Amino acid sequence: MKGKLLMPALILAAGAVSAQQIPEKSPMPMKPEMTEVWEPEIPVITPGEKYGDAPSDAVVLFNGTNLEAEWTNDKGETPGWKVENGIVTVVRGTGIIKTKRKFQDFQLHIEWRTPAEVSGNSQGRGNSGVFMQERYELQILDSYNNRTYRNGQAGSIYKQHPPLVNACKGPGVWQTYDVIYTAPRFKEDGTYFTPPRITVLQNGVLIQNNVVLRGPTEYIGIPEYSVKPHGPGSIVLQDHGNPTSFRNIWIREL
Ligand code: MG
Repeated sequence: MKGKLLMPALILAAGAVSAQQIPEKSPMPMKPEMTEVWEPEIPVITPGEKYGDAPSDAVVLFNGTNLEAEWTNDKGETPGWKVENGIVTVVRGTGIIKTKRKFQDFQLHIEWRTPAEVSGNSQGRGNSGVFMQERYELQILDSYNNRTYRNGQAGSIYKQHPPLVNACKGPGVWQTYDVIYTAPRFKEDGTYFTPPRITVLQNGVLIQNNVVLRGPTEYIGIPEYSVKPHGPGSIVLQDHGNPTSFRNIWIREL
């Protein structure tokens, strides 16, 4: 770039040639290696053996046992959810669970299953949710043959962005979310300098394409643009009263 800018300046200063005579290409002969960047070398990681397996640089948040290693309930105590046969299931009334670690920007993999026995309808069927930084909900719901409001069905950023498609599998079938989340940055007055952004794949299908969030998830009312600044936050899983299950949860900080 420098060479390209320098050349016209020199020519014009000298007044020797007209603008039409400025060569289109840099007079400096370019070689392929002049635009190659070698350092620092890209970090080497080992990908999972098959889709869904944690790569070597992931933090495993739940691998089927020992939920309390990485999770607490809302009070910071041992979570009340049931761990059995490598999966963890919501126990109604015990409240949310949240990661002990707090995160900023990340890639998250989580597998979930709504109850095989279908009961309830609309928001009352297999409802749970994944909250980014304790504030921004990616809805979990049995949205297989179960109409509800479009910005509240599975894969929605609750009450803000409906999913692009309904990629749900049936009740009792394991499903995946792969989330890429960019945390907000704040101005001094507490408003977003850059708002949160989120991309989600459900069962390998893109359902949220780098959407911008207005503010923290609200059940009633408009999400506020002006919120209190917050730093890194936990991943929170919702107890909405339905026995939805989870397995194989891992995260990569970005
Ligand atoms: Mg929910």
